[in-house]
Amino acid sequence: MPHHPATHVEDSPASTQSGNQPGPTSPITDADRYSRQILFPGIAEQGQHLLRQSHAAVIGCGATGAAAASLLARAGVGTLTLIDRDFVEPSNLQRQVLFDEADALESLPKAEAARRKIALFNSAITVNAHIDDLVPANIHALLAGADIVLDATDNFETRYLINDYAVEQSKPWIYAAAIGAYAATMNILPKPSATESPAPYTLNPTTLNPTACLACIFPKPPSGPVETCDTSGILSTAVNLAASIQVTEALKFLTHQPHLMRRTLLSFDLWSSERSEINASKPNPSCTVCARRQFTHLAGEGRPHITLCGRNSVQIHEHHRPVDFAAMRDRLAPHGQVRFNNLLLRFERPPHTLTLFSDGRAIIQGTTDITLARSLYARFIGS
Ligand SMILES: [Zn+2]
Repeated sequence: MPHHPATHVEDSPASTQSGNQPGPTSPITDADRYSRQILFPGIAEQGQHLLRQSHAAVIGCGATGAAAASLLARAGVGTLTLIDRDFVEPSNLQRQVLFDEADALESLPKAEAARRKIALFNSAITVNAHIDDLVPANIHALLAGADIVLDATDNFETRYLINDYAVEQSKPWIYAAAIGAYAATMNILPKPSATESPAPYTLNPTTLNPTACLACIFPKPPSGPVETCDTSGILSTAVNLAASIQVTEALKFLTHQPHLMRRTLLSFDLWSSERSEINASKPNPSCTVCARRQFTHLAGEGRPHITLCGRNSVQIHEHHRPVDFAAMRDRLAPHGQVRFNNLLLRFERPPHTLTLFSDGRAIIQGTTDITLARSLYARFIGS
């Protein structure tokens, strides 16, 4: 599906098919690298081989996404697709395990920073990094090759979009959320497609029934203000718990053992040690998404082009057009401080900072006023 030209960076090893042969960039053999994981009976040689053939997508490279991507890459999942619209900031370093101080000082896009960091510890896998907002117009193209989708977003709008896509495509996805000291996660295994079936999913079709989908459990996105990391704070340990459970469930699926996957919405508060599980083992027969197959989020109905990003900032993604950073720098230099690299341009004009991506998308920090953000965009970038 065609889409506006978002930045896509791919890091591809020359040899993704070889079993125990080190890639040209890595002198380390798979037998050495994965020896302890192969000793674990749930994975073993066969599971390790299946992981190498697998492709997992992680939506969002914030705290949960960075932890999940790190765990998947270290486990040897052969191809990772990472999608994130944001850039690294100093306040991320407390919990976002793939980033360092240099990334924050450079405002490196998170997807690219994650790709570079993964290449340092596992150069034998392929990482597709997409600096982009996941939207109805690009979701089919970005997630086409993935066997499973891991949610590491911070908003319900994107989660309902993933849920629509996953049910439509009969593709498993795993919800994960962390806030404060609390972690929650749920596996969604949609009904396998009658015509086209991903291999692992039909391994045992007689015993593997679909689970509830997100909309079976929560028919509507939460209304009113939702707690975010910016308002409620977050413990790094809660993030890592959510990611650990999520990735373990993904490893079961990718090693063709979907029958071992948990069929509940699990939540755990690490501070109080309170734990709860809601049964999610069966679809709701009146669910609008998985029973009636009404994919309203996938159709993009009511999706705003301007959104609050949580932390005193507004994202504008209504103008899809390539940007010439050098020309933009010349234009903006008289009005404030401008820096750019090949991935983004930073324009500082206190109290606002405008970050512009190569496809015309912008994040304006220093305001939650959409009208003001739009007028700053129109004035400095163009309407
Ligand atoms: Zn449902």
